[in-house]
Amino acid sequence: MAGAVIIGAGQAGLQAAIELRAAGYDRPVTLIGEEDALPYHRPPLSKAYLTGEKSADALLMRGEAFYAEQAITLALDTIVVDLDRQRRVVTTADGRVFPYDHAVLATGAAARPLSCAGRGLDGVQVLRSRFDAEALRARLAGASALVVIGGGFIGLEVAASARKLGLAVTVLEMQDRLMARAVGPGISAFFAQAHRARGVDLRLGEGPPEIVGEGGRVTAVRLASGMLVPCQVVVGGVGVTPNVTLAEAAGLAVSNGIVVDARQRTSDEAVFALGDCASFPHPSGEGRLRLESVQNAVDQARIVASAIMGRSDTYAAVPWFWSDQYDLKLQMVGLSHGHTHVVERGDRETGRFSAFYFRDGRLIAIDSVNRPADHMRGRRLLASAAPVTEADLDLHFPAQARH
Ligand SMILES: Cc1cc2nc3c(=O)[nH]c(=O)nc-3n(C[C@H](O)[C@H](O)[C@H](O)COP(=O)(O)OP(=O)(O)OC[C@H]3O[C@@H](n4cnc5c(N)ncnc54)[C@H](O)[C@@H]3O)c2cc1C
Repeated sequence: MAGAVIIGAGQAGLQAAIELRAAGYDRPVTLIGEEDALPYHRPPLSKAYLTGEKSADALLMRGEAFYAEQAITLALDTIVVDLDRQRRVVTTADGRVFPYDHAVLATGAAARPLSCAGRGLDGVQVLRSRFDAEALRARLAGASALVVIGGGFIGLEVAASARKLGLAVTVLEMQDRLMARAVGPGISAFFAQAHRARGVDLRLGEGPPEIVGEGGRVTAVRLASGMLVPCQVVVGGVGVTPNVTLAEAAGLAVSNGIVVDARQRTSDEAVFALGDCASFPHPSGEGRLRLESVQNAVDQARIVASAIMGRSDTYAAVPWFWSDQYDLKLQMVGLSHGHTHVVERGDRETGRFSAFYFRDGRLIAIDSVNRPADHMRGRRLLASAAPVTEADLDLHFPAQARH
């Protein structure tokens, strides 16, 4: 019995192993991961782990004993280099061969490298792995100024952490607003103001910068205007690209991620994909989605296990996400793209409010700042098929829940 071989020991890979065991899968489960570390949570890497408020042990998703208890064989520090679909075996860089009945691709995504001049200087980096976070923490400890390129979640979380650590921080964003891919303009504006109020030099609509250095080390960033911003560390937070090389080489369909159906099946019925690397059908029936979130990895793992067990559950979870910046907890549920109308409730002044997004009169998403009750209620409501209109807001989000 060859069992299941899961490629990638991150959030999605480990969760798939856990869900297989929970579903009663009684064949061998092997989890192969490139990183030389037990599977760990990535979200703290830009937040409490970067500031030193969270320990390395607290990052681990499960302790070492768990894997033996659940009969999950771990192969860490091991890169899978080939997926042979005819023979149903995967081969690792060190020449080991793992036969499978079911292969699960949980290869995640890689931080997109900066493309500007000077990106190779010492002191310039991205943030994806624990190794990156530890390198960044060491760099920040010896620095007085940081420039972040990219005003998305990771860039802004790093900016907030660095301000906590007492560094001067500049954030450069090409677009005219922050986190534009994920939140509405009102939330972007609130966070722009929040970062500025906490001392960040935030520059929106900023053209491509040039990183300059001396003796191979970064000393400043030259803005499009020619102005020099002195710094010792530069972090690129310009998005990720899904890790699809293995799938592509195996001849699986790939299009901004490994193409799967609503049961996480690739174009080969014995091969599944999930998490940051997977492109799945939009639950609305319009196009495809690839999400980069813990929720997506965890919920898709349940579907993978269910499909392997021969059940027919499909993935239709309402997406949700969070970001912590300073004392502001931003929680998002649903997808606000294409909204036609926004209603805000709460109080921007005290930093506790929610934006409710409507499309054609129906609630499609909610972004909440320090209003966890709105977020939790929104998750339940959006998961139920019942449409919510603006007239229903007071009913579903009563005033006492908004404080
Ligand atoms: C700094 C940071 C902060 C984040 N904050 C949040 C947050 O606040 N909220 C949220 O919801 N999400 C957050 N995310 C995103 C979240 O962590 C990801 O969506 C999640 O980790 C995706 O899980 P995954 O298993 O699909 O991919 P990954 O966690 O990337 O795991 C994939 C693993 O596969 C390995 N791998 C790839 N190819 C191979 C191969 N050929 N052989 C063997 N191993 C391979 C990789 O090395 C990696 O370890 C954050 C991410 C980062 C980097």
